[in-house]
Amino acid sequence: MKVLFAVSECVPFIKSGGLADVAGSLPKELQNSGDDVRIIMPKYGTIPDSYKQEMKKKAEFNVRVGWRNQYCGIEEYVYQNMTFYFIDNEQYFKRDRLYGYDDDGERFAYFNQAVLESLPQLSYYPDIIHCHDWHTGMIPFLLKRKYQNLEEFSQIKTVFTIHNLQFQGIMPREALKDLFDLDDRYFHIDELEFYGNINFMKGALIAADKITTVSPTYMNEIQNDYYGEKLNGVLAARRADLSGILNGIDEEVYHPVHDKNIIHPLRSSVVPYKQANKVHIQQRFALPVKEIPLITMITRLTKQKGLELVRAVFHDMMLEDIQMIVLGTGDPEFEQFLREMEYQYGDKFKAYIGFDEELAHQLYAGADIFLMPSKFEPCGLGQLIAMKYGTVPVVRETGGLNDTVQSFNEFTWEGNGFSFTNFNAHDMLNTLRRAIHFYYEKAVWTHLVETAMEMNYSWSQSASKYLELYENLVSRSEMYVHK
Ligand code: ADP
Repeated sequence: MKVLFAVSECVPFIKSGGLADVAGSLPKELQNSGDDVRIIMPKYGTIPDSYKQEMKKKAEFNVRVGWRNQYCGIEEYVYQNMTFYFIDNEQYFKRDRLYGYDDDGERFAYFNQAVLESLPQLSYYPDIIHCHDWHTGMIPFLLKRKYQNLEEFSQIKTVFTIHNLQFQGIMPREALKDLFDLDDRYFHIDELEFYGNINFMKGALIAADKITTVSPTYMNEIQNDYYGEKLNGVLAARRADLSGILNGIDEEVYHPVHDKNIIHPLRSSVVPYKQANKVHIQQRFALPVKEIPLITMITRLTKQKGLELVRAVFHDMMLEDIQMIVLGTGDPEFEQFLREMEYQYGDKFKAYIGFDEELAHQLYAGADIFLMPSKFEPCGLGQLIAMKYGTVPVVRETGGLNDTVQSFNEFTWEGNGFSFTNFNAHDMLNTLRRAIHFYYEKAVWTHLVETAMEMNYSWSQSASKYLELYENLVSRSEMYVHK
């Protein structure tokens, strides 16, 4: 089967969050099962030169973006036996950041149309185009409404995965004509119309053949008002085509034994491995080298990730005999708050404002507790990576956190972390205190660390669910053709 992944970021080329981890690891697992998987993504200016030098030009043509006629280069790079296509247009993608520009709508409208236009240029027609998040949301829509009249496109099926429903690509009504040359027929509640605007993600939700999201709990949550980001009605209507498949992590990248980023890889037993990595972190951050719980957060600093809860009870947290390090970037208000807290509590709290892959790995290995009190969490990779490195997660029971972390039961010793139900700062604080309490019961703690490390969150199980989904889609269309 031929599968094309259309995605806006992918490890190792460029990453702003978990989406890039998934795009960099799931295709490898699918390819191992015998499928031909290729990936298409923008050629950002900030992709390291070492990769750019390896790219070979495959095609050059123009893509229409409404009334505009824009250059499009397709560059190919076969990396680790996988074919990557990079869409080259410097006006749109040679910039400092991936997202957050006023013309993001135009940039990704271009990208979506460039992906579809590239297929004839490459003489390559996949069985499935697997799209991810709003940046690729218009691909299923344009395919159904425009391209499938053409013979070569007519058999292509689409899968759309929601990694985060909060970001939808909402653009003014005028974008229909201006970016896609579509007429007002599509400004309709059953088409792209969304509260007076148009919505890229909605385009995918109505047009994709199958929709998935990245955990079973999030799949249920987004069909309701609280988590549904005003698209819950659309999602509920497509319930029959919606599934929740848990993300995995790439064990070639995240593994305490093989990880080149960590100073003290796991050799034989867990306790000295954790101790040595913790001492390294304490020294790196000029914290006293002490046997007290070291808590970490590695995260985008946004409301989604529960930063408001942390802020609300921060001074209470600092009354505990703990050390804490936050690695993250995001909303200026939270960055500023964390800097101030470091100024105030510098002997026990450190804020590293930035994005640093190596440091992230070292913190996963060196910390005792990983705090992730998200307001909502489609899947969450942080807690999975933390567990892999023996850092016990403290999480809120939502989305993928609910599906991957079972709160410790002190009577049966079941569980692999600690969790709380309501989005409430004091519930978080009390749960953290509970974890701190058990940190000092060494038999319990070692058991928890080992249980967390034994969890299997590799891709193998989830990849087979995607394969099944693809196979069902393709065989269904073959049945239809043969009739
Ligand atoms: P998101 O909603 O941001 O995708 P996930 O938990 O699914 O959240 O994935 C976040 C990924 O990004 C993880 O691999 C995490 O380690 C990484 N990450 C987040 N913030 C940083 C940072 N400041 N520096 C390095 N890695 C980070």
